[in-house]
Amino acid sequence: MQSADSQIVTERAATGDPIHFGRPWITEDERRAVLEVLDSPILTHGPQCAAFEEEFAAFMGGGVECLTVTSCMAALHLAWLERGIGPGDDVLVAAQTHVATAHAVEWMGARPVFVDCDPRTGNVTAETLERALTPDTRAIALVHYLGIPCDMPAIRAFADANDLWIVEDCALSVGATFDGAHTGTVGDAGTFSFYPVKHLTTGEGGMFVTRHPEVAKKVRKLRAFGIDRSHTERTVPGMYDVPELGLNYRMSELQAALGRAQLARAREALDRRAANFAAIRRALDGIPHVRVIDSTDARAVNSHYCMSVVLEAPLAAHRGELIAKLNRAGVGTSIYYPQPVPRMSYYRDKYGYDASRWPNATELSDASVALPVGPHVTAADAERIGTTVADTIRGLR
Ligand SMILES: *Cc1c(COP(=O)(O)O)cnc(C)c1O
Repeated sequence: MQSADSQIVTERAATGDPIHFGRPWITEDERRAVLEVLDSPILTHGPQCAAFEEEFAAFMGGGVECLTVTSCMAALHLAWLERGIGPGDDVLVAAQTHVATAHAVEWMGARPVFVDCDPRTGNVTAETLERALTPDTRAIALVHYLGIPCDMPAIRAFADANDLWIVEDCALSVGATFDGAHTGTVGDAGTFSFYPVKHLTTGEGGMFVTRHPEVAKKVRKLRAFGIDRSHTERTVPGMYDVPELGLNYRMSELQAALGRAQLARAREALDRRAANFAAIRRALDGIPHVRVIDSTDARAVNSHYCMSVVLEAPLAAHRGELIAKLNRAGVGTSIYYPQPVPRMSYYRDKYGYDASRWPNATELSDASVALPVGPHVTAADAERIGTTVADTIRGLR
């Protein structure tokens, strides 16, 4: 693998091939795992999903139960269906996140109340949550921004003091821990995404996790039409009852086989991400008006989905120019997230938008650039990204 990578890098240096922002990393083992399922008679309801759930739970630790689902959005929807929130209920939702975090609340008919983030981590804190609390608040929907874990002990204490349920959107935080606890294990439910450019991929896919056995039991039914017993629990084949209004959010065996093989390499991928992040960070050290978003707490372990670099005044006005120059130099970029969720048309039209309420989330959307650190980025690529970004920023006027 290492030598194959070096070869790719030499070719890239010669041709100036672009370093993509995100690329799935699929090996021969993974292709074989999927093909083996195709050769078997079981394509769903099978041993691959069960094994993936157990292996993911073991990877996380903390005694959680895991349930494979079709996406992180599906996992979020199930989390709120299980709670039964609806009209009249407020949920504190991170303003700086993927729309899925808010959409799941919105689909229930509950009202998302958007919460600003800490400008250094991009995460909500017990303090920003407290400031947004309303008399009708029943729950919290937070995200571990770009894999930087929230301060869950403080947020858990705030939630317990106010009798609030916590759903953690862990779509970008496979491997991220705070004080030794994996993201998704301190809240009441956690949701993961296996979309192609995330830490692990199953094409499309996700995982619902919870430390409450009774929640797992109910979500297991809700993800499969609300049917009361699985195939193995039926004494008469084909005989079952439906006590719940469920959905079909089941993952297939092909996806689970791919996910298991990806999970087996998760540690290696996380190490690559951490090394790439550190290399780019070193190159940006000491450049004025540049802020790298990262954890600020010694208890936090970042899972390094990407590196978000904030351009502070007077550089902030030059973000478009920086992105254009980096892309021209073959450095792929993205923006996380392009708008704070309350500024997205759907939410702005429905609830109105008051820019002064989310200054830090707004700065991230309007003045940051996201750089690639994924396992497809070699050590030489990371050096190239670091020098290119540093030189380009120094040249901005
Ligand atoms: C990607 C992402 C999602 C959506 O995940 P899907 O699996 O595509 O539904 C949700 N939340 C966050 C924070 C994400 O990054």
